[in-house]
This record gives sequence, structure tokens and C-alpha cells, in this order.
Amino acid sequence: MEFVAGKSRDAESHGFEPVGLGSEIFTDARGVTRRVTHPAGFVPVTQLEHARLGVITPQMKRVAEREPHLTPVQVRDEIAAGRMVIPANVNHLKHKLDPMAIGRASKTKVNANMGASPVSSGTDEEVEKLQWAERWGADTVMDLSTGGDLDACRAAIIANATVPIGTVPIYSMIIGKKIEDLDWATIEASLHHQARQGVDYFTIHAGVRRAHLKHVKNRLIGIVSRGGSLLAKWMLVHSQENIMYTRWEEICKILRQYDVTFSIGDGLRPGGLADATDDAQIAELETLGELTERAWRHGVQVMIEGPGHVPFDQIEWNAKVQRTLCHGAPFYVLGPLVTDMFPGYDHITSCIGATAMAYHGAAMLCYVTPKEHLGLPKKDDVKQGCIAYKIAAHAADVALGIPGTRDRDDELTKARAALNWEKHFELSFDPDTARAYHDEDLDVDTDFCAMCGHDWCSVRISKEIQEFMSGKAEGFERGSPVRSAALTPEQQEILEKRGVLSPDEIHKLANKTAKQMAKVPKGQMAKEDKLTCHSDYVDPDTAKRLQVASGAASVSERLVQVDVRPALGIAKEDRVV
Ligand code: SF4
Repeated sequence: MEFVAGKSRDAESHGFEPVGLGSEIFTDARGVTRRVTHPAGFVPVTQLEHARLGVITPQMKRVAEREPHLTPVQVRDEIAAGRMVIPANVNHLKHKLDPMAIGRASKTKVNANMGASPVSSGTDEEVEKLQWAERWGADTVMDLSTGGDLDACRAAIIANATVPIGTVPIYSMIIGKKIEDLDWATIEASLHHQARQGVDYFTIHAGVRRAHLKHVKNRLIGIVSRGGSLLAKWMLVHSQENIMYTRWEEICKILRQYDVTFSIGDGLRPGGLADATDDAQIAELETLGELTERAWRHGVQVMIEGPGHVPFDQIEWNAKVQRTLCHGAPFYVLGPLVTDMFPGYDHITSCIGATAMAYHGAAMLCYVTPKEHLGLPKKDDVKQGCIAYKIAAHAADVALGIPGTRDRDDELTKARAALNWEKHFELSFDPDTARAYHDEDLDVDTDFCAMCGHDWCSVRISKEIQEFMSGKAEGFERGSPVRSAALTPEQQEILEKRGVLSPDEIHKLANKTAKQMAKVPKGQMAKEDKLTCHSDYVDPDTAKRLQVASGAASVSERLVQVDVRPALGIAKEDRVV
């Protein structure tokens, strides 16, 4: 239905409109007719306000187009109930933003964090990372820059992003000044500025209150949220309540003007398994529930940020308690990591928790990269993080039975069963990697692969047992085995990067670190440029020289060519080989 500001269609039809009120009538997704009253002349701004009046916005229609299991009416009703948000700043909609929704009724979404730090990266690199994250399926991106030209970086990211952009505005509020100097004038100006730029959602740590800080004392790792720790310090220095909490009503009014969505921050989230689900976390969560209601009264959309380190057995309870205390507002969760002892692999430790959290109620998962706790993610870390979290989100959606979600899995299974390699790769999330890994050992598309070989290929044997023709693309006929096209440069690079770092890179890093840590006697480093504790690693050319010197007439004499044909059951004259 079309909303006409200040003009009551209901009043025209029924003629009983009280003085000073307008009203709208619409039918909800269940077929119930609803009548909503509002102050005369009220003009809705946010998606939430439109939804409450029964208005279906173009952004709601777009969401339903992108998620065919939902109708525009269902999207509207979920937003009206506060269970779904469309983070779409009115100013970002003027650029390339393609509206999307975050909520339990929609598919689980993935956020990728990026941003320059004071020691690494710049605007061009961050825009490249944004596009890279979009390429690998990030549904939203948070610009968490704390260094470089923050303003230019943010503007460039917003101008280039087709996905919603989130920020933690307190970062830019304290650049060049101490947290103690933070005041309302700075907060107000920064929020207006970033909202005018087009930021779609703000993380604001208003839930950390003075009364909660006593609970932090018993923690192993205290406060790990940057925003949370800064505001805790501000409260202690000023002996005052959190300024974001006391100014909440004014903050809501600013966000409403631009339809910026709240991502109410969890400044007291646990930073280790030992601190999970403790008094500090739950006390803050109760406040987040209160702030949610207050934001909704201002017509502002809300999602709630959730904990980062939670033992697997506590995940379900965490999802349920958030839903209860925060009235069903979408839950946006970092991980959570389910173990703390695998730095370097925290995209894996966390995506296990993320899958469970999404299954039990999270609407969006904030990715974690292999660099978590260790350094600023680079391009390949962004890819690894995105893929880990696309897996988590998709696995949860499949388990939740969201209609149509498993279709591509089933199509891929059929292609796999038919040994239709082309279709297998076409349907995979990362076709280049799948193709490169396949061709690394056997660059022929035939009735087996190098994993089991011809005689042991159960899929091939199954096909022999029964005419297993289902799953082939229409018109698909298996012809003669074909040699695949040579690997593309990108696929070759994927193989070269396997293991993430080459021995050269690892040793270079180890040398650099040791030098900086001054753990190796300076003279020795200068003399040999090699660590005292180091193995006899040498570069490839030196290795060849050593090999020859050790007795071989030539390097080639020492190389062994393995003929794998007997093991694979391939006849020597096999035309495939
Ligand atoms: S060889 Fe093994 S891994 Fe490869 S297709 Fe056959 S059953 Fe699958």
C-alpha cells in the first residue's frame, strides 16, 4: 500500500479519526486486518516506522526478491516486530547499496571486519579488501579503522560498497585525543558526520554501566572490547555513568534521521572461555534489552551484538537468553570461539561456535580470520574468514530447513555422484580452488580422481552396480575422459599458497621476529644472517649446489619420477595418460 504522509485513508473511509491523529489500515502476513494510529502529519523515516504503518518499502521488496522464501509482507511484518532489520542509511541508498535483511526469518548473514590500523594498511587497500570480502560472500562489512585517514577511508568504502557498512563511531571520536576528553559535543558531531556519509549501522557500547564494572574484576582477561574498555575508563576517570547510556535518547534521535540501525555493542563480552556467561556479560545483556525498547520507541532499528568466546555447551543458552532479554531483536555474534588454544586457526575454532549459535538463534555472524588475536587481516585472511563463515551460516540454514537452502548442495551431490567434474566445480563455492586441487594430481576429468584411484573409486563402482544416471545435467553424456584445460594463473597461485606460507616466507618472518626481539646474539646474526636455533634451511639454488657437491653427478640424477599408473590401475598405454 502507498503511504500518504499526514493523510489518513482510514479517516476518509470511516470518518472517526480523533483530532490530532492519523491512522492506517493494512492486512498482515497472517491475514489479520490491523489499524495503526499515529500523530497527524507524522512522516515515517526508518524501515521500522514504515513497517509499523503497514508500508512496504522498495527495500523490503528487494529483500524479498533476494530471499524468495519470504514475501514482502512477511519482511514488513518481521521488521515491524523488531525481529528483522534492513540496515540502509538513506544516504547510502544514493550510492550502490543493495538492500539486505538481518533476522531469524531470513538466511543467516556474515559480516567481515576490516579497516586500517595505526601500523598497517591504507584507503586503497581497504577498498580492495571490501571488494574482496564482497566477492567471497560478506553480507555486510564493518570499517573498524583506527589509523590512516579514517574519514577518506570510510567515504571510499561507502561509495564502493553494495553491502551495508557498519562502524564503531567512538574510534573516530578519540583520534588525536584522550578518551578522558570525550564529551557530548564530540559524540553528537561524529554521529551526525558518519550518518551523513552513509554508514548503515553503528556499534555503540551503551550497555556497559558503572555498576557492571565490579563484575570484571574476577575475569581472566578483563574487558576485550575496544569500545567497552574505552568507555569503562571514561566512567572511572569521570566517576560518571557511561555517557552513551545517559545520552541514549539523543543518540536515538540522530540515528532515526538517517535510518542508521543500532548494533548495540557488547562491551563486556567474554574474551576467553573462562569468562563466558559471567555476571558482567549477563548484566550488560539486561541493559541491552532496556536500550532496545528505548530505541524502538524512537523508531530506530536494532540488532544486538553477542559474545566472542563461549564453550560449546553454553551456546544454546546464550542464544536463548539474548532472545528473551532483548525481545527478539536480531542477534549479531562474533564467532564465538569454542576453544582458546589455537591462535592462527581461530577462523576454525570460531566457525564451529558460529554454526551452533546460528542454529540456535543468531541472525548474523561476524567473521573471524586466521589473524584474529595476532594481527591485521590481509587479503587472503579475509578470504579464509569469509569462507569459514559462509560455511557456518549455510550449515545452520540447512539445519534450520530454510526453504531452498539445500538445493545447491543436492545438485552438487548429484554432479559428484555422476562424476560430472565440470558441474561439480561450477556448483562449488570456490570453483578455482576445487579445480586446482583436483588437477594437481590428475588433470583429467574421468571416472575417478587421485584420492582413491580407479580400482578403489566407490562412486565409479556404484555406477557400475546400478545405472546411476540421476543428477546429470540435462543432456549430459559422459564422453571420453578429457584432459582439463591448463590451470589458470589464479589456480596456480592457489596451489602455491597451500599451507598459507611458504618455507621462504616462514623463515623470513622468523628471522625478522628474532631480530626484533633481539633474542639472537647480534654478531652471529650479522655474520650468518641465520638463527642459532635454526635448522639448515637453504634457498633452492643453494640446495642444488649442495646436492651436487654431496656426490651426485648432476641434480637430475637425484630427482625421482614416480610413475603412479600402477597404483591408480591405469594401463601404461592408457590414452588418458
Ligand atoms: S576416487 Fe574416491 S574421492 Fe575420487 S571420486 Fe572416486 S570415490 Fe570420490
